[in-house]
Parts: sequence; C-alpha cells; structure tokens
Amino acid sequence: GVEIVDAHKWYGTHHVLDGVDLTVEPGQVAVILGPSGSGKSTLLRAINHLEKLDVGHVSLNGELIGVRRIPDGRHRDRLRELPEREIRRQRRRIGFVFQNFNLFPNLTVRHNVASAPVATGALSKTEADALARDLLARVGLSDKADAYPRQLSGGQQQRVAIARALALRPGVLLFDEPTSALDPELVGEVLAVIKDLAATGTTMIVVTHEIGFAREVADVVVLLDHGRIVEQGPPAEVLDAPRHPRTREFLSRVL
Ligand code: ATP
Ligand code: MG
Repeated sequence: GVEIVDAHKWYGTHHVLDGVDLTVEPGQVAVILGPSGSGKSTLLRAINHLEKLDVGHVSLNGELIGVRRIPDGRHRDRLRELPEREIRRQRRRIGFVFQNFNLFPNLTVRHNVASAPVATGALSKTEADALARDLLARVGLSDKADAYPRQLSGGQQQRVAIARALALRPGVLLFDEPTSALDPELVGEVLAVIKDLAATGTTMIVVTHEIGFAREVADVVVLLDHGRIVEQGPPAEVLDAPRHPRTREFLSRVL
C-alpha cells in the first residue's frame, strides 16, 4: 500500500500541502476530491517524487520513495535524496495516468504499451508484445493495436494510457482527473476500465470529480482543502453523511 506521512510543501510562502497523512491499503482505491488549487495534483506528484516534499515522506509497500533515512543520534532521522537512477527505478513501480493521456504520437498503440518494459530491460520484445496484447484486450482495444494515437477517440487514448501504465506492473496506479478532458459520452468507458482494475485488487489513488464513480468504487474518499484533509472515510460517510461543512459545501457545488 501507500503511506503518506505528514506531507508539507511550500511554493514560496504558499503552503500547498499542509500536513497530509493518508494510508491506502494494498488493493484499496482512494478517491481524492477537492476544489481547484487544493493541492490534489501536488499530492499525487509527491507520491512518485516528481514533487519533492519539504517535510514528511511517502512510502510504497514499506519502501521510502525518493529518499533514504540518515540516522541521527540526537534528533529525528534525516532524509536524504536518493540518486536519480534509484528514483527512476522506484517510479517504474508507480503508474501515472494524466488528464491529457500523454501517449507517444509517433508510436502505434501496441508500441505505446510495450515500449517501457522493453526500455527498462524488464521484458524481451516478444514478451512485451504478448503483454501489450493482453493489456489491450483488458481495456477493450484489441482491434486498435496497430493504430496511432491520433486515430483514436479521447476515451480510447486514455484506455491505452491505462494499459501502458499497467505494462510496468506497478504497485500503485495514480490517476489525475483521468476523464476531465473527455467528451461526456466517453467518460463512462474509461471509468468502467478503472472500475475493472479496482475489482482485480489494483491499489489506486484517483483524483476525480466523478462523485458517482467515487461512491461505487472507492474504499476511502478524501476531501482535500487548502492542502489539508478535512474529511476522509468510506463513501457512505463522506459523500452521503459528511460531517464537515467544507465537505458539504464542496459536494453541493459538484453534484
Ligand atoms: P486543480 O483541481 O485545478 O487541478 P489541484 O488541487 O490539483 O487543482 P495543485 O495543482 O496541486 O491543485 O496546486 C495547488 C496550489 O499550488 C495551487 O494554488 C497552485 O497554483 C500552486 N502550484 C502548483 N504548482 C506550482 C508551482 N510549480 N509553482 C508555484 N505554485 C504552484
Ligand atoms: Mg490538479
């Protein structure tokens, strides 16, 4: 699972993450809600160390991400940045799916999915090709393997992006508003794929404004506001019986 402990981040004097503690158990799905600017993307990016925390740390299945502990006899242990090579190795275990798909435009769908495990040496070309075939079937795109991204709808492109993220067999999948760039009629097919992954026990953290999806799929729903978790719990509590006025206010705006 993922553990975020006392995460703080400042941009200048702007306290963008203000002491976030969040644990996502293996196989669980956390959905993060919150207004624009509340720190959702910053928090996701901190998980794979694209954003360095000023205070606090993140671990995946017990391993610190991006840093190691330097024992300090007198005070709390210090954290020191890992070499870039090590950080890259760790990032391969953290799948990231973005709002705007970010596929390689000059590679076919099949190669978009197969390229990373070949590049990292994890799989041979033949193995990666077989894996890409499996993953494309899983996201319902077997017939598009030889197409280029520009020939696909946004929903199809996002499903390729999900298959590509899965190709490195990540310990956790992070989604940053995976459907917010899509036409409304394409949202459902992407959410259905994410829901399938949830059913197979993939650990996931999903930033989204899709409340219906959160209600159906989340094990834990988190409301972030001004860099703080104001409320977290099962969807039946946070979405249907929110305790905090900020949660009620947020929900009344998005529902
Ligand atoms: P949205 O829903 O609009 O995507 P968000 O919750 O993902 O918002 P973040 O992108 O995490 O919010 O940004 C949180 C705050 O940090 C915002 O006020 C933003 O302007 C600020 N911020 C983000 N990145 C930087 C940066 N590189 N430099 C300075 N400020 C930044
Ligand atoms: Mg964001």
